[in-house]
Amino acid sequence: MATKSLKAKGNDLAVSNKQLEILNGGIFADGELPYFKDQIAKIGHFPLRPKKLEILQINVGYMCNQVCEHCHVDAGPDRKEIMTRETMQLCLEVIKNTGAHTLDLTGGAPEMNPDFRWFVEEAAKAGIKDFIVRSNLTIIRANKKYHDLPDFFKKHNVHVISSMPHYTRGKTDKQRGDGVFDKSIKALQELNERGYGLPGSDLRLDLVYNPSGAYLPGDQAAMEKDFKKALKEDFGIQFHNLFAITNLPIARFLDYLIASENYEDYMYALVEAYNPSAVANVMCTNTISISWDGWLYDCDFNQMLDLKVASKVKHIKDYNEDILNDRNIIISQHCYGCTAGAGSSCQGTVA
Ligand code: SF4
Ligand code: SF4
Repeated sequence: MATKSLKAKGNDLAVSNKQLEILNGGIFADGELPYFKDQIAKIGHFPLRPKKLEILQINVGYMCNQVCEHCHVDAGPDRKEIMTRETMQLCLEVIKNTGAHTLDLTGGAPEMNPDFRWFVEEAAKAGIKDFIVRSNLTIIRANKKYHDLPDFFKKHNVHVISSMPHYTRGKTDKQRGDGVFDKSIKALQELNERGYGLPGSDLRLDLVYNPSGAYLPGDQAAMEKDFKKALKEDFGIQFHNLFAITNLPIARFLDYLIASENYEDYMYALVEAYNPSAVANVMCTNTISISWDGWLYDCDFNQMLDLKVASKVKHIKDYNEDILNDRNIIISQHCYGCTAGAGSSCQGTVA
């Protein structure tokens, strides 16, 4: 279990170029495995282009109360990159005028940004159809000042999406840290008490599963059934949907793959599971990702690799949806994670 971010440890992989060197070199440069661009060219999807913008995903900072083993953000308590109110103001202008129907706030733990509540209150006024906050659940129990978050979420009709790697204590704590399971269960119960996740409730509560090792997720629908049964029987917890997400080989998961000597096998598994029918709907085709300092990316993964959008509009201060939508999406071998099996995105499978 990592206790510090790669950045705090001075790990080489904290530098995005180092990660890209690995993803573009080795078994791909040797021709053992095909480059992602060559695979998608075969089905006429290279260059990969956006469709209609539907989701604005805003990363309000990399600070987190947890240091999960597989975090693609390399988040942790030591990360100080936090969106300022000034950048939030620029985001609010965009939120008011966007054609996107979904606003997705993520982090780190977005709630740790000191201006988080102000931003949610202001953004909620824009009346965007689906307003998501990605909460790691434990933040709700981390400190007294966060205990009222379930009421705050309810007040602003926020759609809560939370990571829950497994319905057993052992698997969850192994991936996310000791004590995470018990705190997550308590937080889910509190959300249920406010009406979140109940059948027919408008207060949406979805969970995210990602594998705790170097393997691909199983069938999303079957896992949802298992999670629902176990959480209901053991803890009386209810939720709406389970999203199964593939771990992409970047940041701490890449470090884990290399350290455990699973990197090549994992890349083979992703390439073997490549599903051409997932390509048309990968997340970057309907999403723009905004970083804590206002730069624009095709997705949160490209943000962590510092691959800014290939557009003359690169920063929120110059935001123009029409210009942005007319761009080629930047891809690399990590993209195989989005097209393996039933595909993977922040909203689960795509194929
Ligand atoms: S996976 Fe989520 S909860 Fe875990 S360290 Fe990363 S941002 Fe924090
Ligand atoms: S990693 Fe990002 S750019 Fe690559 S396919 Fe997935 S969403 Fe698109």
